[in-house]
Amino acid sequence: MNPIDTIAALFADQGARDYLGEPVTQAAHMLQAAALAAAAGAPDSLVAAALLHDIGHFTGPISGQELMAGTDNRHSHAGADWLAAWFPEAVTEPVRLHVAAKRYLCAVEPGYFGELSEASVHTLNVQGGPMTAEQAERFAGGPYAEQAVALRRWDEAAKVPDADVPGFEHYQPLLEGLLCR
Ligand code: FE
Repeated sequence: MNPIDTIAALFADQGARDYLGEPVTQAAHMLQAAALAAAAGAPDSLVAAALLHDIGHFTGPISGQELMAGTDNRHSHAGADWLAAWFPEAVTEPVRLHVAAKRYLCAVEPGYFGELSEASVHTLNVQGGPMTAEQAERFAGGPYAEQAVALRRWDEAAKVPDADVPGFEHYQPLLEGLLCR
């Protein structure tokens, strides 16, 4: 099956579930993140990363429900590894780093923590809490840190009930254009 059809099916099926303690479905959350990335003029690869950033909740061995119950499901890594079969690093690495980016922003930006939703604070703790100064410095110097931080801000903002944004099919040509062949 074409990977984009596989992803479309995941959005339609598992995406209809609630997004872990937030007032939007998983699919609505990811579609909103993609719309914010596109509105910000992000390159296609980063729009795709925003669209697909939580795909690891669908594909990883541990569910999002288990994450909320206190087990880190490492969904960023699970999602990035899964996507790497078809997409380049410019898509997969911001996905991989979007959880680390939350831990980073909490360490370096006063006030960032206060903007997190209750569910996001809860998972932050399960995921290791804010980075130390040393970890933050290492993160900032690594590849795709900037893209991951941008993605993280869209992620945090993409929790608006009933937002009117394009559906998955809108992004199919963009995804097609990014596939590694
Ligand atoms: Fe998210």
